[in-house]
Amino acid sequence: MKQDVSRRTFIQTTTAAGIVLGTGSFTSQARAQEQVQKAPALLYRTLGRTGLKMTLLGFGAMRTSDPAVIRKAIDLGVNNIDTARRYMDGQNEEIVAKAVGDQRKELIITTKIPPTTPEQMTADVEASLKALNSDYIDILLLHSLKRESDLKNEDWLNFLQKVKKEGKVRFVGFSTHNNMDALLTANLQEKFFDVILTVYNFKSSETLRSAIATAAQADIGIIAMKTQAGGYEDAAMGELSPHQSALKWVMNDAHVACTIPSIVTFDQLEENFKVMGSKIGWMDRKTLHRYGAVIDGRLCRMCGQCSGQCQAGVAISDIQRCLMYAEGYRDLQLAQSNYAELSAQQNLRACATCSHCTVTCPNGVQVAANLQRAQQLFA
Ligand code: SF4
Ligand code: SF4
Repeated sequence: MKQDVSRRTFIQTTTAAGIVLGTGSFTSQARAQEQVQKAPALLYRTLGRTGLKMTLLGFGAMRTSDPAVIRKAIDLGVNNIDTARRYMDGQNEEIVAKAVGDQRKELIITTKIPPTTPEQMTADVEASLKALNSDYIDILLLHSLKRESDLKNEDWLNFLQKVKKEGKVRFVGFSTHNNMDALLTANLQEKFFDVILTVYNFKSSETLRSAIATAAQADIGIIAMKTQAGGYEDAAMGELSPHQSALKWVMNDAHVACTIPSIVTFDQLEENFKVMGSKIGWMDRKTLHRYGAVIDGRLCRMCGQCSGQCQAGVAISDIQRCLMYAEGYRDLQLAQSNYAELSAQQNLRACATCSHCTVTCPNGVQVAANLQRAQQLFA
């Protein structure tokens, strides 16, 4: 993903309906017409039983500090935005609100709160409503659930039912970065949550792919995150850019209703917007094959298969996700703030006095080497 902020030709030539900001001359009008014809069509999918029609490209606002980038996406027709109470210490929701302006009713806003006590969650929802400058949230997710038992927590379920009844929240769901396939499957029994935001990319396991398909067939709305498998850049990729190919791979799975790649710059918005509706092709597969080889040892699939291997209880997957934020997203602040949320038992403290890492990964992730780099960054 390119990091430089630029409006370039993208912002000069496209608007919500693909109308061009023309300059008046015949040549520029002809060129503009050609660009209109090349503008990608908006593609909508239904978010399971919510019935919400989502543009297949949503806007992942987690790291977006410039509301103009979100505004541009809205002008292009992107109709859903993903934020969370804790992103940017609560300021991210305010940035989203600035971009949304008076178009609140036309847009679908997802936010997330940490699953805590009913009192704290009540305060969080009120804070989110205030920050979003709205009297309702379209989709409220419990942030980062990990265990199947989380889906039965009565305090949380009662709270969600209450805020729905009060009209503060339209639909409820959860996000998950760990043990995703088990949670997707468990939700089929519990049938409580309407929407699941899950990690999903071309390196995800067949088990996760199949769990997503089954959940979608049961009318659960599936939103995919971490779609670009960390967004790593590496000299070994040469001229090939894997990020569009990776997003196409996820978009080509019809069980995914919406994707929310993290978008920070106008260039990234352009890159992502252009692939909406594109079919994945031979060249994409070749690119992803090479990208896969580059990231295989680095990218934790967050599958949870190694959980329990470390006797000290280190949160191996969470720490590697933080490392991905630092090395892939190149966002050290995000990495450090996520790392700071881990408890002393979960963080790298035990690793400092451990002589030999015994954790092995069936997916070929170099856990010991990754944790050593994480120690240099976080410990
Ligand atoms: S280190 Fe490997 S086994 Fe553990 S969560 Fe990551 S991908 Fe799964
Ligand atoms: S280095 Fe030791 S303490 Fe750290 S994850 Fe590996 S086994 Fe656990």
